[in-house]
Amino acid sequence: MSGLFACPVCGRPLERGEKAWACKKGHSFDVAAEGYAYLLPPNKKHSKDPGDTKQMVAARRVFLEAGYYEPFRRRLCELAREALAGLPASAVLDVGCGEGWYTAALLDALRGAGAEPEVCGIDVSKSAVRAAAKRHKGIAFAVASAFSLPAADASADLAVNVFAPIVPGELRRVVRPGGFLLLAVPMPRHLYGMKEILYDEPYENEYRETDYPGFALVSREAVTGEIQLDSPALIEALFSMTPYYWKTPPAGCARLRAASSLRTEIGFDFLLYRREETP
Ligand SMILES: [Zn+2]
Repeated sequence: MSGLFACPVCGRPLERGEKAWACKKGHSFDVAAEGYAYLLPPNKKHSKDPGDTKQMVAARRVFLEAGYYEPFRRRLCELAREALAGLPASAVLDVGCGEGWYTAALLDALRGAGAEPEVCGIDVSKSAVRAAAKRHKGIAFAVASAFSLPAADASADLAVNVFAPIVPGELRRVVRPGGFLLLAVPMPRHLYGMKEILYDEPYENEYRETDYPGFALVSREAVTGEIQLDSPALIEALFSMTPYYWKTPPAGCARLRAASSLRTEIGFDFLLYRREETP
């Protein structure tokens, strides 16, 4: 079948076969045993194996499966379902889908509402996409970049982005006029309790710019809470999901790894946009 995905070389629609995805011009992309395709052109790769490593993907799964972010996932799905109400066959692209924890729930939520959507996920991490494809059949996953989406112009009824790099030009290109963009970004005090351990002078997350040309803001709402983690393994799993994992000085990492429990505020800011009708 063809659908939302487009050839990363020439932009023509990709026909999704069992063994390969191919465009009419003859560019062909092998499907891995797990069922995903690799749509990252070699010249777009910044390193040999970009994105989250296998260990990070495994750690993130441990944390997500523990359910602490379930209220966020539930709200994401509700917002998607409300936005797509009345569209029986929508096309949904999860940009930066990771191991598919949100993507799979989106599919379930839309099916639960009686729709039969085409749900696709892309992530730059091969380890994440492999894990996603292995686990979640019925969703088309590809290794690809948020900076160069392998999707046709105006092909998506909804693009979802949970904590992934936001590339407004690509999102504007891919979401059809009248379609939706659903962003989840961290609230200023998301994980503040973790940062109090990591840093001598913890700082709040910056308040994100929310105005994207071509999109009109439909709604903005915060979902916040507080969590308590009582095992070093869970604390480490959460840490490895954060950008702090890469930039915390050794002393801060050591303090966190010595902690037997962690209590922290958490908060996602959900921003729903509608793509304006103008081209
Ligand atoms: Zn092509």
